[in-house]
Amino acid sequence: MGVAQVPPLPETPGPLFPELASAEEKFRQCIQCGVCSGSCPMGEAMDFAPRRAVKMLLEGRFNEVVESNTPWLCVSCHTCAVRCPSQLQISDGLFPALRAAVMAEGKAIDQDLQKALQNTYLYGNPMGISPKKRAEWAKTAGVPVPIMSQLRRPVDVLWIVECNPSFEPRGQEISKLLARILNALGVDFAILGPEERCLGDCEWLAGERGLFEMLIERNIEILSKYKFREIIMTDPHSYRTLLKIYPFLGGRYHVQPVVAFLAQRLDQLKPLLKKKLNATITYHDSCCLGRKTSHYEEPRMLLRAIPGVKLVEMVQNRESSLCCGGGASTIYLDRYIQERVKDRLADRRVMQAAATGAETLAVACPFEPARFEDAVKVTGNEQKLIVRDIIELLAESMEIA
Ligand code: SF4
Ligand code: SF4
Repeated sequence: MGVAQVPPLPETPGPLFPELASAEEKFRQCIQCGVCSGSCPMGEAMDFAPRRAVKMLLEGRFNEVVESNTPWLCVSCHTCAVRCPSQLQISDGLFPALRAAVMAEGKAIDQDLQKALQNTYLYGNPMGISPKKRAEWAKTAGVPVPIMSQLRRPVDVLWIVECNPSFEPRGQEISKLLARILNALGVDFAILGPEERCLGDCEWLAGERGLFEMLIERNIEILSKYKFREIIMTDPHSYRTLLKIYPFLGGRYHVQPVVAFLAQRLDQLKPLLKKKLNATITYHDSCCLGRKTSHYEEPRMLLRAIPGVKLVEMVQNRESSLCCGGGASTIYLDRYIQERVKDRLADRRVMQAAATGAETLAVACPFEPARFEDAVKVTGNEQKLIVRDIIELLAESMEIA
């Protein structure tokens, strides 16, 4: 295969996509080992599993790959990336670029995804809710939740709440509990409230580069107005984006996910964990907290600290954890995926959780309670398994729920 046969990638890589700057050259390092396809939980449903897609691209069959379902069935679980012996970035590099090629032609892959992107453009969140309502949940938190623009002073911790925990009912309840935990720990924190907008993870992975660039530029501008020591984040997807993508546009922050922030304060937290929960719990490693940013232990440290908790592991845990099926833009592609995939990943994951004998499936991602609760019903595990965010479990033990 000569160099001349290698097709150009969909777009000239910009500074936001440095991993693609030499993508053609990099993907020539593919040794066609098939580890990616063998590891891919969606490979069987794809028109072309990852290894074959890479081979076809290198053979110049660009249009066939772009027009296939392959880029849209990738759930961005990152399993291929952590296992690839040539360290090739399929999930965060190649497939977003292929999706961008589709988007650049103005093709609508799915109405739900288009609606979410349109809403984000108009309102700064995929639900299409007025940004003025971002901090509505805080009014009934039962503790002070200061807003940066009203506080007019530096804070230790800026909490970026993100869209789901700001607007969705279950997410809002978890946000209130987290506000109470932060207050109980005496953390000097504030939120952005109506100034906050989507961080852009979904837009980036969906290949909607124009919208992503617009969001990132605005968010950096807003953050530059305020002084804070560090940022904490509820949503692991946005956390990963702020940590790993924003620096390429000048947005460099000391940022960590809420579970890591709380685990650092375990000595302070432990005396507050008074109520014994008497529960066997299994924990689901989300892809963004796990494979993408390696926060495997902090969630487990928090769970083990709760009196009466017995922690058991699923057959796939930590780096081999099975994705919930809602990564990348696929959270808005459920219908598209269900038409093409027999077994939903969330259902498979819930079956793994039920097989441990645990009665609680603990999560640390705001998308997962609703996703897994649906899977619990679909798999007939309603009497056996409940889904709870780690924040909910901590708050119950602290008796502030
Ligand atoms: S795992 Fe990496 S080297 Fe192996 S086939 Fe996939 S992309 Fe190529
Ligand atoms: S990120 Fe996951 S779903 Fe996507 S190609 Fe890789 S292994 Fe498959």
